[in-house]
Amino acid sequence: MRHDHPMKPATSDACCGGPDVSLAPAPSRRALLTASAGLAAGAAALPFLSDSARAQAAGANADGLLAQVQGRRRILLKGGVVLTLDRGIGDFAQVAISSDDAAVIDATNRIVVPGFVDTHHHFYQGLLRSILTNGLLNPDYSRDIGNTLTPAYAPADAYAGVLVTALGMIDMGTTTAVDTSQVSHTPEHSDACIRALQESGMRAVYAYWRGSGPDMRYPQDIVRLRRTYFSSQDQLLTLALGAVLDTNVFTYAREVGVHCVSHGVSNNTERTLLELGRAGLLRPGDEYIHCTHLSDTAWRLLKDTGARISIAAPIEMAMGHGLPPIQAALDHGIRPSLSSDVDATMAQDPFTIMRAAFTLQRLMLLQRARGGEQNLPPLLTCRDVLEFATIEGARCAGLESKVGTLTPGKEADIVMLTADRLNVWPLNNAPGAVVNVMNPSNVDTVFIAGKVKKWRGNLVDVDAARVLRVVQEARDAVVRRSGFQMNLLG
Ligand SMILES: [Zn+2]
Repeated sequence: MRHDHPMKPATSDACCGGPDVSLAPAPSRRALLTASAGLAAGAAALPFLSDSARAQAAGANADGLLAQVQGRRRILLKGGVVLTLDRGIGDFAQVAISSDDAAVIDATNRIVVPGFVDTHHHFYQGLLRSILTNGLLNPDYSRDIGNTLTPAYAPADAYAGVLVTALGMIDMGTTTAVDTSQVSHTPEHSDACIRALQESGMRAVYAYWRGSGPDMRYPQDIVRLRRTYFSSQDQLLTLALGAVLDTNVFTYAREVGVHCVSHGVSNNTERTLLELGRAGLLRPGDEYIHCTHLSDTAWRLLKDTGARISIAAPIEMAMGHGLPPIQAALDHGIRPSLSSDVDATMAQDPFTIMRAAFTLQRLMLLQRARGGEQNLPPLLTCRDVLEFATIEGARCAGLESKVGTLTPGKEADIVMLTADRLNVWPLNNAPGAVVNVMNPSNVDTVFIAGKVKKWRGNLVDVDAARVLRVVQEARDAVVRRSGFQMNLLG
């Protein structure tokens, strides 16, 4: 079956800089997504690459297609079910291609979606995965992660944690994330985090945040960071200021001219939020994380000031933050984004996050219906949740002009998901398969800004054994310095 759709031809500026990825049903109406011009130079000298990794990738690619995909300026995805998540374009059930000089990727039995966006994750904690698996926010997280393990990080440990988090996210189909950092004990820690993000090839917002100790330079070091790493708009990394709700920090962010990414937004901090609003310090595009148990007044303020909301449903439910405010946000006209927060306790994969949002919102409404309530809001659909995990995430990260949908002129952050596997087949409903059936093992191929980062199930140009070794050494160092008692079998 072949479906027409109203895609426009690509704009003329869509072809500069690197490979274009095309999705549309006919060459004359091809949807071109572009590569970032600043990207190509960054890929060659990654220290975690090795000849053996390249040889391994080449060996897994006996037909040479990967080399073509990496070498050609134009890449065509042929035959997939494409969920553009662009409501103006719609979806199409199969793509037919007449190829010219392009590398053609057969996407038969694949679902093609925009890369997932995770709007709140503390990347440096990649070393601490599942170390606090049964913990609560208070007292466990504050004591063990905040006050014991995090202060023991050296810059090299922050680098290792960020790197494994970013590569793990790419492997699971998350192409963009907001790194709510929180480990900037010294400027060198911040440099290490940014270097790891750069080397990973992920698209990220680095939300510079405080650390601890006498050498911390928060928030003023953001000026140096911006000058050193963020002078270009045409790159995968952007900068924001992470903050608790605090008048001084918000005032500083406004002076510097960056978005705020606010943590710890809840009924406990609502009074400060309202004060910031009265002081005129909230800006459209600022991000607010958790937002549990806010009043109608606070929600109206967030809506009126153009707030972006990040809900970490699994963590909020498991660690005691409160009720994830999915329905509260929707009731106030805000479509939320989704986030994973900390993998010290819970998985960071986008499927877990999407399913938690889907099941929770429906549970809450169905319980209200069971209690006799009438005229309830609609139940979330899988498509709603997929939007939360893509375009709403892109909006929250301030990147909706570049990613979040498969739209001509945007950059090509694309995930190909395998449907012809025993855990998914047969394919009867594509959004449902993605949100409610799949898991990270179905992430087949990943592009970021048109560059292939994962190919047929394997990360490209990543020496995984070396990354694992570096991460283990860093974990050992942090645990040793902190005196924390791990419990492997607990
Ligand atoms: Zn958090």
